[in-house]
Amino acid sequence: MAANKKVLMLPGDGIGPEVMGEVRRVMDWMESNRQVSFDTEEDIIGGCCIDAHGVPMKDETVEAAKAADAVLLGAVGGPKWDNVDFDIRPEAGLLRIRKDLGLFANLRPAIVFDALADASSLKREIVAGLDILIVRELTGGIYFGEPRGVEDLPGGGKRGYNSLVYTTPEVERIARVGFELAQKRGKKLCSIDKANVLESTKMWREEVVRIAPDYPDIELSHMLVDNAAMQLVRDPKQFDVIVTTNMFGDILSDCASMATGSLGMLPSASLGAPDASGKRHALYEPVHGTAPDIAGQGKANPLAMMLSFAMMLRYSFDMAEDADNVEAAVEAVLNAGLRTGDIMSDGMQMVSTEEMGSAVLKELDKIAAS
Ligand code: NAD
Repeated sequence: MAANKKVLMLPGDGIGPEVMGEVRRVMDWMESNRQVSFDTEEDIIGGCCIDAHGVPMKDETVEAAKAADAVLLGAVGGPKWDNVDFDIRPEAGLLRIRKDLGLFANLRPAIVFDALADASSLKREIVAGLDILIVRELTGGIYFGEPRGVEDLPGGGKRGYNSLVYTTPEVERIARVGFELAQKRGKKLCSIDKANVLESTKMWREEVVRIAPDYPDIELSHMLVDNAAMQLVRDPKQFDVIVTTNMFGDILSDCASMATGSLGMLPSASLGAPDASGKRHALYEPVHGTAPDIAGQGKANPLAMMLSFAMMLRYSFDMAEDADNVEAAVEAVLNAGLRTGDIMSDGMQMVSTEEMGSAVLKELDKIAAS
């Protein structure tokens, strides 16, 4: 039996516990059918933690996250907590865990499963077969730069300002993540900036160019963010891995995600810096929120959560074969016509969260037997 994989599970609010429940079943399946054992711990985060403890995340939970090999998170928030103090809102728990674990690299794949190509707002031929990865810098840039604020102007009115700040180490570490991921994929990296207008992103481009010789196998290109937004809807398949700043990545990854058709299908990973042994803190979560409109009704699509779990197998546990199997099982249930409400279309079979989970397990059985 391989060494235990220490996983902290934080289901969160709304549909979080429902979709996490289906991942739990996949983990149980793997323990019974593969040479792996997960050492799991579960805790609360977000609105449910505010209700129980008055804060969106406890200090003990941060410590447990640091001690774990990986953290799996559902989603946090909901209308019930919309009016709590800004500092203890559910999202503050999420921001805290990202900050305390130093999760500076956000990986957002945009993959179009053939069976869902018609769910995209773009034409089938533009998106069919799409498989790109956006690497967004997550802890720097304009969302964190100082000075920032809003001040009153002497003659009336206000002045609001933020600062787009990057340092050499910040650019270098995120660019290296981009290069290394490109090495495991199609060997193409596109760095996106606004070097013609913003000095800090001109410097970003220079730093990326400076380290490029360390990756001679990677074809590096650069693109201005306005062009990148256009290219993502014109011809997204031209990209392999994209690396970009915090704000550009925030916007472009949402744009790319819509090529795939549904929020319920989108996984993500956030990675920290490797320690001396090469181990990184890592958090895996679906891109979607808590979907309060369907929470508790068995209607949530669990596939984004399952695909986030597959990313955990791939990036934290080096279990590429098992990650491939989970992804193949997801693809097989889609090919068989099974759909939750969010991805439903004519002629398909509508299933519940649990039925979707059961169908994935059946496909895993078939893959294991073949
Ligand atoms: P949302 O992603 O929760 O929902 C948007 C729409 O997509 C809804 O109609 C919902 O039913 C649907 N949807 C989302 N995920 C789905 C799934 N897995 N299966 C089926 N349908 C799905 O976004 P929202 O409505 O803007 O936000 C709701 C709450 O979630 C808010 O409190 C928000 O702050 C929070 N939120 C949390 C995160 C996070 O924890 N990372 C991210 C986004 C939003």
